[in-house]
Amino acid sequence: MTTTSCAAESCTRALRDTEQATGQTLCTPCVDVIGVWLRELPLQITVLEGSRQRETTGTSGGGRTVYRTAPLPGRDDVLNLLGPAAWSDGVRDPHGDATEDQHGQLPIAGVLIHWVRVISEDRRWNPPVSLTPQSLAAWLADGRPLDWASRQDWAGVMHDELRDLMRTVRDTTCLRPRRRAIAQPCPRCDSLALVATDHQIYTECGTCGSMYTREELALAARITYAALDADAA
Ligand SMILES: [Zn+2]
Ligand SMILES: [Zn+2]
Repeated sequence: MTTTSCAAESCTRALRDTEQATGQTLCTPCVDVIGVWLRELPLQITVLEGSRQRETTGTSGGGRTVYRTAPLPGRDDVLNLLGPAAWSDGVRDPHGDATEDQHGQLPIAGVLIHWVRVISEDRRWNPPVSLTPQSLAAWLADGRPLDWASRQDWAGVMHDELRDLMRTVRDTTCLRPRRRAIAQPCPRCDSLALVATDHQIYTECGTCGSMYTREELALAARITYAALDADAA
């Protein structure tokens, strides 16, 4: 089988034979990270909604309501991200990048509704009854739609668009998954650059880009110790 790279522009991994055999255009770590993002979104939305409330509540002083004269920095970003989206907003070229000819970031619901519409109309699956960003994210993250999406030629566009959305959302809430270094050399390139991220299944090597599950790293560590013991004996 010829080597094909993962369709996500931000990813340099080549597709494994097992991934190609199932028709995946995205590598499994990229598919998994989409699931992580979609499950993180409701938490991020709660934080965004909290900051919107705080900033739109006028303060009462001496019986009269005092309104802010200038918007707080960042408030427009929050309102924009929480903006509504209609089902008709989901119509665009699935290969086109939403942010290309758009000024500023689309609302969360606007980004999600497009992909829900593309998938549900092609597969004739019922879209979520409610079009809140939380429901849209839950619908997309549910195994079947994400699984099918990962085999389409536009899967890389979807991945990169959601990655850009998550970057904007995390920048706005200042809420990021924690990353921590792992004190174990990378089984492939031997550099001490392994980083684990909250909620993520894979630990990534910052040098060669390899991804490992916890089990794979535990196994690699046991092999290293066994080799050291053999050397010492
Ligand atoms: Zn990938
Ligand atoms: Zn490595």
